[in-house]
Amino acid sequence: MTVKARIERIGEFVDQEVVLEGWLWNKRSSGKIAFLNFRDGSGFIQCVVVKQDVPEELFDLAKGLSQESSIRVTGIVRKEERSQIGYELTVTNIEVVSRTEDYPITPKEHGVDFLLDHRHLWIRSPRQRAILKIRAEVIKGMRAFFDENGFTQVDPPILTPSSAEGTTNMFETEYVNGENAYLSQSGQLYMEAAAMALGRVYSFGPTFRAEKSKTRKHMNEFWMIEPEMAYVEHKENLQIQEALVKYTIKHILDHCPTELKVLERDTAPLERVVAEKFPIITYAEAVKILQEKGHDFPYGEDFGAPHETELTNHFDLPVFVEKWPANIKAFYMQPDPENPDVILGADLLAPEGYGEIVGGSERIHDYELMKERFAQENFDDSYNWYLELRQYGSVPHSGFGIGLERTIAWICGIDHIRETIMIPRTLYRLYP
Ligand code: ATP
Repeated sequence: MTVKARIERIGEFVDQEVVLEGWLWNKRSSGKIAFLNFRDGSGFIQCVVVKQDVPEELFDLAKGLSQESSIRVTGIVRKEERSQIGYELTVTNIEVVSRTEDYPITPKEHGVDFLLDHRHLWIRSPRQRAILKIRAEVIKGMRAFFDENGFTQVDPPILTPSSAEGTTNMFETEYVNGENAYLSQSGQLYMEAAAMALGRVYSFGPTFRAEKSKTRKHMNEFWMIEPEMAYVEHKENLQIQEALVKYTIKHILDHCPTELKVLERDTAPLERVVAEKFPIITYAEAVKILQEKGHDFPYGEDFGAPHETELTNHFDLPVFVEKWPANIKAFYMQPDPENPDVILGADLLAPEGYGEIVGGSERIHDYELMKERFAQENFDDSYNWYLELRQYGSVPHSGFGIGLERTIAWICGIDHIRETIMIPRTLYRLYP
């Protein structure tokens, strides 16, 4: 019996007859030979049908196959230097599983709205497949980093009673008991509780923001990894972030060379990220750099995309911007003892114009100071549990949130984060 094989492991079957199960991506043929570009989900391979070596019906069948017809192809695996994967298949038989007519996404150019309307089909194309493969490997790499460094995964709730950071940007729903409930926009506060139980923890899950942003860096549903670490202060927090980013990039360079090639990603900037130390500048220094470069940017505002691009171009590496003015950052961030007007937190900006991928800080652990913050923010009782974390065995602790899609967009070198997730949820799009 002919063995089933998958393209990703085709090299184990050289000179053997195998059957591949998949779809016809595209084809070209002359009078004597047909080249089928075949995909099986694990990769793409060229299948060659030579007229004089096969029955006439088989050659005619191959020549007449339409794009995205599902087929089983039997053939002999050959080494082929000129192929991107190093192998091709000499076809001996084809079985049509389902014939496709008028597949909407043809090899010609399509507009992005058309492609997004057909996102359920668009993901079959080589670039989209490569991005989704890299996404899976980014997740694997990040998990491996946490597992090797003593972190435990904890899953905070997605339905929450309210948000300490305000509910204006939250998706609201009615809970089973009639109370208002909101989809989580960050698991951080709960992860602080987990860190006091397990020391070093991370969450990995979907995050929802009802903001009406139309940028290439914002979606309304995205995935975030949120580590939280007991007895870790600001400096060590940055060291862990840098180690995570380096580990993840190295993991992708090692495990996804084919996908990076499909995306035509220049890997030199990524190799530099792995090799070199990330610069750390203060927010005040960043403002000075922007002003020196001609931006009319006042101290005390958040950066927009052009400012982040300017800063990362200046360093050409991921750069930490630390010690932000306390009044534009979250209430729980630890003030710098040397200057309480700024906080011990940082954003990590990715190079090549990608901008912020991580936001993190040391958290206030002093009970009295947190109580003061609660009063300033007018919190009601629903966050008493968070205050209790400062009452019972409080310790210095820090954490951060890294956005999965922004990290992937940077690694893949693509323009918009909507291509980094199977079905994007953006301002004007809830379809498919
Ligand atoms: P921004 O200022 O860019 O809107 P933020 O300051 O609201 O981001 P955080 O709340 O610190 O971001 O979230 C942590 C990380 O989550 C960000 O660094 C980013 O990587 C990611 N992130 C935040 N908002 C979005 C979004 N709407 N879509 C995709 N990723 C996001």
